[in-house]
Amino acid sequence: MEKIKRTDEEWKKLLTPEQYRILRRKGTEAPFCGVFYDHKKAGTYFCAGCGLPLFSSGAKFDSGTGWPSFFEPISEENVAIHTDLSHGMMRSEVVCARCDSHMGHVFNDGPPPTGLRYCLNSESLTFVPD
Ligand code: FE
Repeated sequence: MEKIKRTDEEWKKLLTPEQYRILRRKGTEAPFCGVFYDHKKAGTYFCAGCGLPLFSSGAKFDSGTGWPSFFEPISEENVAIHTDLSHGMMRSEVVCARCDSHMGHVFNDGPPPTGLRYCLNSESLTFVPD
């Protein structure tokens, strides 16, 4: 996949301050506050940084965490996983494979069929209904 590279100044112009903090500085939004954690419409979730389709409503589930949660991405190629050793934990960070924007983390306590829980920030996503 061809990468999208932007300077920090370009990202600041494109994103809201909260999006910039989360997408480009690996921030986290407060739980139960984002627009998508309780969002149940059918459609597709895209990277808020570059518009790459990342997750489908068909893979969304209610994790009870207050963050939008999915058991699989639309395509393994569209997300990249990086080891995150911050905050004294070892976690798997989920980023957009095209623009490297931070989406959230993936954990091994999700539901079938994958057993994975992609725990994302609403701010990292845009939604287009079917
Ligand atoms: Fe992206």
